[in-house]
Amino acid sequence: MDNNHKTYLVLPQFDAGLLSPEDLEYLAALARKYNVPKTKITGAQRVAFLGMKPEALDALRKELHLPDTLPHKRGQLHYVQACPGKTWCRYGHRDALSLGERIRAIELTGPLPAKVKVGISGCRFNCCESWVRDVGLTGESTGWRLTFGGNAAGRPRIGDVIAQGLTDEEAVTLVTATLNYYIREARFKTRSARFVERFGIDALKKAVLG
Ligand code: SF4
Repeated sequence: MDNNHKTYLVLPQFDAGLLSPEDLEYLAALARKYNVPKTKITGAQRVAFLGMKPEALDALRKELHLPDTLPHKRGQLHYVQACPGKTWCRYGHRDALSLGERIRAIELTGPLPAKVKVGISGCRFNCCESWVRDVGLTGESTGWRLTFGGNAAGRPRIGDVIAQGLTDEEAVTLVTATLNYYIREARFKTRSARFVERFGIDALKKAVLG
């Protein structure tokens, strides 16, 4: 992206903040080759190269075969953020990283009406701020708690609880049903928080929980 000569690029292949030693070496080599002034882990757990010269940005895009567009593809999940979870964190009740992979792989019935951010936290400490994500999943001793309609921006909103005590399988099924309902019923460009405010969480729950 070039915004009044402030250029940056979010590297699309580093979703969820997982970096192997090879990834780190690859990033360091790219940063050196293109004289990247600042490298940043973004709030969405991706890697951004900041302050690049437009020529360097174009050359890097070409090397990575990236299109000239924003990293977000309209109609798809904007990002899926997941914490280290039970596998790597002493507080974790559930495996947030593996659920994150399954949520990323969900196939929906059509393009999403607006940006959808997913936050998956392995326990109630909520390091991925699940309450204020469009789709929030929080690991509890009884299973996953699913919330929908959260937002952390200018008009913040705490998501509504759709269900609790879910297994991984049930969580994936319910997130899929919730997003398909949102696709079916929401107007174009309506974020989940505004959709739930207008439409009501009860109608959504009735539709997706049966
Ligand atoms: S949300 Fe819980 S499990 Fe995840 S990193 Fe934070 S403390 Fe650990």
